[in-house]
Amino acid sequence: MAAEHNTYGCNYCKSAASFKGDYAKMPKTCPTLTHAELTKEVSGYLVEPYRSIMQVADQTPFDANRVLRNRVEELIVYLKALGLKRVGIAFCVTLLKETQNLIKYLHQEGLDSIAVCCRVGAVDYTEIGLTKAHPDKFAAICNPLAQSKLLNQADVDIVVQMGLCLGHDIILQQQCTAPVTTLVVKDRALDHHSVLALR
Ligand code: SF4
Repeated sequence: MAAEHNTYGCNYCKSAASFKGDYAKMPKTCPTLTHAELTKEVSGYLVEPYRSIMQVADQTPFDANRVLRNRVEELIVYLKALGLKRVGIAFCVTLLKETQNLIKYLHQEGLDSIAVCCRVGAVDYTEIGLTKAHPDKFAAICNPLAQSKLLNQADVDIVVQMGLCLGHDIILQQQCTAPVTTLVVKDRALDHHSVLALR
């Protein structure tokens, strides 16, 4: 069974032939071929909640005039289509202005927002053994455990992640009861456009 743990064809494939269903161009190691039983199993999409998620996700990229929506517009369409009215927002303090704008847009669409800042709790670095650049000054840790607990208590339908640090985002995602979607990926060097490092 060791082969199960080898990489799949996607690791080095240049054809991406599954995109067009072109079997002749798929590498022999393409999971479409080697794992057909798994990759062609779609029954999970025919039952809720994935049935509705797949249908709505297919409709969000374009508006009625076939004009592309940006991700914020897509998010609002997605929330409304699925009836997700209580929207939790786990935001980084550096994105306070952008979070306030998101709250405004959500309210304009009749959606409730429950936002929680990353520095909630005002817990000093030293309380969890982290080293501070200036030991004599207070420095608040990011607190994704508290963010997720507050959002769970608020019984939100979905959580929108706004620029949490790498690692803190994982804690949030693991601890939130509601599904988490990422609107902004924290990337301090690239103004949150991480894909630019891969072009
Ligand atoms: S699914 Fe198959 S065709 Fe698509 S990238 Fe992976 S190996 Fe290539």
